Amino acid sequence: MRGQLFVMTGASGVGKGTVRAKVLERTRLFYSISMTTRPPRPGERHGVDYYFVDRPTFLALLDQGGFLEHAEYVGHLYGTPRAPVERALARGEDVLLEIEVQGALQVKEKVPEAVLIFLVPPSLSELKRRLVYRGTDDPEKIQRRLSQAEREMKNAHLFDYIVVNDVLEEAVADFLAILTAERRRFARM
Ligand code: 5GP
Repeated sequence: MRGQLFVMTGASGVGKGTVRAKVLERTRLFYSISMTTRPPRPGERHGVDYYFVDRPTFLALLDQGGFLEHAEYVGHLYGTPRAPVERALARGEDVLLEIEVQGALQVKEKVPEAVLIFLVPPSLSELKRRLVYRGTDDPEKIQRRLSQAEREMKNAHLFDYIVVNDVLEEAVADFLAILTAERRRFARM
């Protein structure tokens, strides 16, 4: 049987990476490593956090139809390489993507049975606090990420599930419950 495709999305700074890491510790999922033209942050590794490439390399793969989805986000390109995802699904492994909102909506269009989970912060002011605390972006970038988040929240109704990331362990538990329920539903189809 083919695997299922799960897509986690939500604003930058909402804690997608942290929730994803905990979820991956507790259940079997093939995590799709994205490709990006954004330069690595300190500590990030090529082939682990992202495939870091230059713009011409990204655009060449895009030209060949090599992405399941892609988006430009705050000045950089991000995309899900298609081949590893398709191979994992064909092997029967469930796949997790962690991507921004536009990309998630593209996936839903191409793969209607994909399960979209939208992670939201308890409030926009809490999101701002987290972005400032993370310290990876200057004030102007934080403002752009916050405006983007505000626009994205308006699309929350387009997703299958909404998980509030207030208390981390509760968000992880909610996420795992969604995976369990969807896996059971899929097994009956
Ligand atoms: P960051 O630069 O903070 O790592 O990521 C910025 C945004 O891009 C985050 O919301 C992240 O989830 C999203 N992102 C990461 N990989 C992909 C991808 O392959 N496709 C899309 N559409 N968004 C991605």
